[in-house]
Amino acid sequence: MLCDWPFLFMSDKLQFVGHKAPPLSAHSKFVMKPTIMKFGGTSVEDASAFRNVAAIVKSHVRLRPVVVVSAIGGFTNALLASVQQAIGGDARAATKSLDHFLGRHVAIALDLLNLESRVAFELTVAVARREIRQLHKIIAVHPVTHRPLQDEIVASGEQLSAQLLAAVLREHGLAARYVDARRCLKTDDNYGSAAPLPETTPATRAELMPLLASTRIPVLGGFIGCTEKGVTATLGRGGSDYSAAIIGAALEAREIQIWTDVAGVLTADPRIVSNARTIPVLSYQEAAELAYFGAKVLHPKTIQPAIDCRIPVRVCNSRAPAEAGTLIVAESEATAQTVKAIAYKNGITTVQVTSARMLGAYGFLRALFEVFDRHRTAVDVVTTSEVSVSLSLDDASALPQLIADLEQLGAVEVEEHRTIISIIGEGLRNTAGIAARVFSEISDINVAMISVGASSVNLTFMVDEARAADAIRRLHYVCFERPESAGKRAGLAAEEVPA
Ligand code: ASP
Ligand code: MG
Repeated sequence: MLCDWPFLFMSDKLQFVGHKAPPLSAHSKFVMKPTIMKFGGTSVEDASAFRNVAAIVKSHVRLRPVVVVSAIGGFTNALLASVQQAIGGDARAATKSLDHFLGRHVAIALDLLNLESRVAFELTVAVARREIRQLHKIIAVHPVTHRPLQDEIVASGEQLSAQLLAAVLREHGLAARYVDARRCLKTDDNYGSAAPLPETTPATRAELMPLLASTRIPVLGGFIGCTEKGVTATLGRGGSDYSAAIIGAALEAREIQIWTDVAGVLTADPRIVSNARTIPVLSYQEAAELAYFGAKVLHPKTIQPAIDCRIPVRVCNSRAPAEAGTLIVAESEATAQTVKAIAYKNGITTVQVTSARMLGAYGFLRALFEVFDRHRTAVDVVTTSEVSVSLSLDDASALPQLIADLEQLGAVEVEEHRTIISIIGEGLRNTAGIAARVFSEISDINVAMISVGASSVNLTFMVDEARAADAIRRLHYVCFERPESAGKRAGLAAEEVPA
């Protein structure tokens, strides 16, 4: 019964967002908001993974799922490699290189589908192969045309997995319906990294609302869309998360769930800290800082559409579906735990420019940053003193040219093999005693370029790569593992939380 459902009704606002949006039917106004469920490549790598996804979707039927799926694990890489092979002139080998992956699709179908659906899906695979074959041939002869053709080829990964998943869901008794994502996602023609256009909202609603209204479960491939001219375009690597957020925003979803093979967002990299644990709630800003500083979280760009509409994003573990995962929301709930996570990024180069000319002069920093601009090099962390500026670079490939130009401005010192460590949590800047505790814990490790982020969400500093793991483990221990911190759920909290 509808009124048993615990969630909200479609808001009236939805009708007025986007001038081309079709009016919602009177009926759909009283239906619960949908939940976007996105499954990544590792969640659909073989028959048992598909079966697991079906069980997860089944247990969420009451939340009105819209399923978005990536290509099966490894297929996108193989498709891209095949294009390179075709560019090299060997179209036959290019197509042949995909047979292993196409065979994997067929094997999954053999395992999970009834005869009729299986035959239909095998035909779909055969047709896809024939189309890819034609495209490989064209690319081999006219390699310059490869950009849109490459997107067309790569998109077949998501199209096949979505069609297969829809069939598997039906086999499990769910009313799933494959929807060609290109009918929903309208993009510009920046192939390989296309951006969604506003037309996406009305198109997505027109395609999906009727299905939802008749309690169908739409299943779409992530990562793909099409241009105004009807040409297939992809959103860039990892773009299925982005698709999920775009579709979620268009439908004003109640929640966007990103299902992966990890236990949500962790307090630290589990390869370094074996006791890393799942963070229950993060703010959008904390999640973004984590991503900037190297954590394997959703890229901020991919959840921007969700942020704009303040839709919660949940990172779920398809291997432990009963766990709550990590919920990412506009403002993380008031919690005593100031420190949420410790992120890091290895392979950093720092550059220090020292010049007495800086003292009391203007224009120096402009001249300095123009050098980085000229060599198209992004700068991450910046700290300054009266007569020197230190900058950290993630990509130091233009270093020789940078140094030559920077030497016009002052003495240049470069250090390589550095690690940025970033302690992340809302309200860090306003919490007394954090910096003292962090730095006293690692007082035997040389720390440089300390900066409390302008965002007030991070405390960042640089150490030698060789000492980074040790520093991270010790900081994780004081923040999350030491009995007193665990007891107060308080990170570095002894002074922050009244005892
Ligand atoms: N299959 C695409 C990729 O591997 C998109 C995605 O998985 O998000 O980049
Ligand atoms: Mg992925």
